[in-house]
Amino acid sequence: MRWRGMDGHCDILIIGGGMAGLSAATALATAGQRIIVLDKGRGPGGRMAARRAEIGGEQVGFDHGAQYFTARDPAFREAVAAWEAAGVAAPWPAAGKDAWVGTPGMNACVKAMAEALDVRWGVRAERVERNGAIWRIATGDQSFTAVTVLVAVPAEQAAVLLAEPAPELAALAASVTSAPCWAVMAGFNAGLPIAADTYRSETGPVSWAARNSAKPGRSGVETWVIHASPARSRELIDLPKEDVAQILLADFFAVTGAAPAAPQHCDAHRWLYALPQALSGDGARFDAGLRIGIAGDYLHSPRVEGAWLSGRALAQAMLQERVASTS
Ligand SMILES: Cc1cc2nc3c(=O)[nH]c(=O)nc-3n(C[C@H](O)[C@H](O)[C@H](O)COP(=O)(O)OP(=O)(O)OC[C@H]3O[C@@H](n4cnc5c(N)ncnc54)[C@H](O)[C@@H]3O)c2cc1C
Repeated sequence: MRWRGMDGHCDILIIGGGMAGLSAATALATAGQRIIVLDKGRGPGGRMAARRAEIGGEQVGFDHGAQYFTARDPAFREAVAAWEAAGVAAPWPAAGKDAWVGTPGMNACVKAMAEALDVRWGVRAERVERNGAIWRIATGDQSFTAVTVLVAVPAEQAAVLLAEPAPELAALAASVTSAPCWAVMAGFNAGLPIAADTYRSETGPVSWAARNSAKPGRSGVETWVIHASPARSRELIDLPKEDVAQILLADFFAVTGAAPAAPQHCDAHRWLYALPQALSGDGARFDAGLRIGIAGDYLHSPRVEGAWLSGRALAQAMLQERVASTS
């Protein structure tokens, strides 16, 4: 269901095409609503992004954000079953009994959702303003107008975007603090002598490491993704990524006990707002008077499933209000 309306104007504009934004968009499109989604990223994923690198002449992918997801809610389980049937998700028992990954990369589920929608990648919403009964969204070189705006970006970014047009929603988002996470992506020309494909710790400098190349749908050279703990990430927060990569690689060999090996490829990425301390509540907020709402993992739980449920809750709140106002 792809809608190409008059460029720049739509009934509902969603800022943020991560799991929460696209979950809202999918639910609204299924209910017959016309939507445009803007996302500043060059491609799909948000915090479920995947990155490509060439190692020894081979193209390999790294899931440098979310590592896997669980599916406990019945509605989310249905969505995951549909992704599995479409070949964009698969179970990954190495991470747990109910652990799933996107295939061939973590962003595959978001990508599949986006293909059925009108998503404009590489478009950053810079300002949201009320102009009479219409919202105006400025994006650098163009602007959009919409009757309803839904904001599905990390809490700290939502707080900035909404400070003037929707101060109450902005204050709610501003009350959230997210932990940062440095992620290292390393490729090796031989398998590392580490038996398990995953490592996790609540206390050490490395909170998580995974043999990325062992996830379903991946192949090729041995690759690992290493996540620093929130405390270690804060300690290293302003260092250059090249230095962080070396420090965390050393941490990784120390905590796993494996003999240090020189990587063929090593890069690092800093997630400033990786994992929010989620607020309790209904999972989303919609201001029917102003026709503006917010969704995101911070309104439900700091997980892929939480983001999906939050987006769906926002769509439901909006649709229920529409029914109430017309009856
Ligand atoms: C390192 C790391 C590890 C994680 N591990 C796990 C895990 O193992 N399991 C799990 O379930 N969850 C994990 N998570 C959490 C999970 O990734 C998130 O809960 C979920 O992806 C959040 O989805 P979202 O849509 O709320 O936000 P996001 O994915 O952040 O999406 C927001 C989108 O908004 C866009 N955006 C932001 N500002 C603007 C703007 N001004 N204009 C336009 N677009 C904008 C961004 O580009 C982004 O695509 C992890 C996250 C990180 C970072």
